[in-house]
Amino acid sequence: MTKKMKSSRRDFLQHSLLGSAGLGLGIASTSEVQAAPAPNSAEPEITQSVDVLVVGGGTAGTIAAIQAGRAGASVLLVERNSQLGGTMTTGGVAYPGLFDAWGRQVIAGIGWELVKESVELDGGTLPDFSKVPQRHYQNQVFTNQFLHAILAEEKCGKAGVQIAYYEFPQAVTKTTDGWQVDCVGFGTRRRVNCKQIIDCTGGAEVVGLLDLPRLREEERQPGSFLFMMDKAHEPGRNQIHRLYVHGADSTNSRTVTTANLTGRQSILTMLREKKGRLMHLQPETSFRESYRIQGETLITVNDYSSGKKFDDAVCHAFYPVDLHTKNGVKPQPLKPGIVPTVPLRALIPKGSRNLIVAGRCVSSDRLANSGLRVQASCMAMGQAAGAAAALAAKSGTTPLEVPLKEIHDLLRTHGAIIPGDA
Ligand SMILES: Cc1cc2nc3c(=O)[nH]c(=O)nc-3n(C[C@H](O)[C@H](O)[C@H](O)COP(=O)(O)OP(=O)(O)OC[C@H]3O[C@@H](n4cnc5c(N)ncnc54)[C@H](O)[C@@H]3O)c2cc1C
Repeated sequence: MTKKMKSSRRDFLQHSLLGSAGLGLGIASTSEVQAAPAPNSAEPEITQSVDVLVVGGGTAGTIAAIQAGRAGASVLLVERNSQLGGTMTTGGVAYPGLFDAWGRQVIAGIGWELVKESVELDGGTLPDFSKVPQRHYQNQVFTNQFLHAILAEEKCGKAGVQIAYYEFPQAVTKTTDGWQVDCVGFGTRRRVNCKQIIDCTGGAEVVGLLDLPRLREEERQPGSFLFMMDKAHEPGRNQIHRLYVHGADSTNSRTVTTANLTGRQSILTMLREKKGRLMHLQPETSFRESYRIQGETLITVNDYSSGKKFDDAVCHAFYPVDLHTKNGVKPQPLKPGIVPTVPLRALIPKGSRNLIVAGRCVSSDRLANSGLRVQASCMAMGQAAGAAAALAAKSGTTPLEVPLKEIHDLLRTHGAIIPGDA
């Protein structure tokens, strides 16, 4: 290697390390040497303490982590996949809705900031929320899934959030002032002592590990595989296609494997029949429905469709009741002027302390959940959960004991719209 090559490589490394450190990303210094763990040892290689542990870095979890970090909490975000964004990125459903209702914006905050920034950087256009569209989906925001994932990482870094990919909790134990959570990843065993947990796994997996009650129907909405195909008779007209994966079940690695195998095989069959070229395929099935928590409050479809204004509302939600079946979906739009709200109590597993959820596992009946599960609503719930958990960690209480006004004030400081504000 020539001297010039050596120095430019060093410059590059220095630049990368400094750049990453500037973002708050944790990179071991080159002089740090770690002993290899003894094979089959059950001892954690890493033990750390944080205020807030967010499990699941998807649509809701990313926003929860950023909000908690911006509120001054030390935050670890554990994500079992390789990137942030969950269904929006790994699932490829990159058209979040709905931030608006009846001619005004009803959801903003950190989720909106991320979506807006990614559309602007991508040279896209944002919908005009002052216009009520003929069809609800016309005001969904088309985003670039890849950019979304990268910007989410940048915002986490700037908020001081530490990210741990390829890890998931294996055991959760109550301690006097919070939790001890044992996480595993390949080649990694991490013990996390934390004051608060935010479960944003989509299927309330931490709640399940704790044996707290979860709700699920025998029948589930189909999942979908998203892909792009160039049809032989329409070359150059790449379109996003969604293929239903009936019976898709996100309960565990075995059922997810089955969904992925079934979905990919169906795509292969379709390609052979239609003679198209496969241009892009998301890495896994995306799931519409799995477990929901049984919370301190359960949002019923009547609460949702009547736009009930809960006393402890922390955010809005807006979307038709949208239950997919074997035969497709017939969205039932909300009546003019109706904007549902989400109460804090629907994010708290019944009887729990120091634990909060956000995202599609919100406590709700099946029909209410079919509307609540959309991305703008999940982001708003994530921000509310992040605020509540950060404040609870700071004051040594549990999210339900934090004065609601403090949660609202913190959310407003970070751009969120509280029901009643707009
Ligand atoms: C096919 C399809 C189409 C849809 N269309 C729309 C639409 O047009 N507009 C819209 O707004 N919404 C739409 N939705 C709904 C919406 O995308 C999801 O409901 C929403 O993104 C769920 O967000 P979440 O944060 O709850 O879960 P996710 O975004 O799925 O995030 C969960 C995250 O947790 C991680 N995780 C799970 N378990 C663990 C664990 N044990 N440890 C660590 N990490 C874990 C996952 O890897 C994932 O990153 C659609 C959904 C589907 C499936």
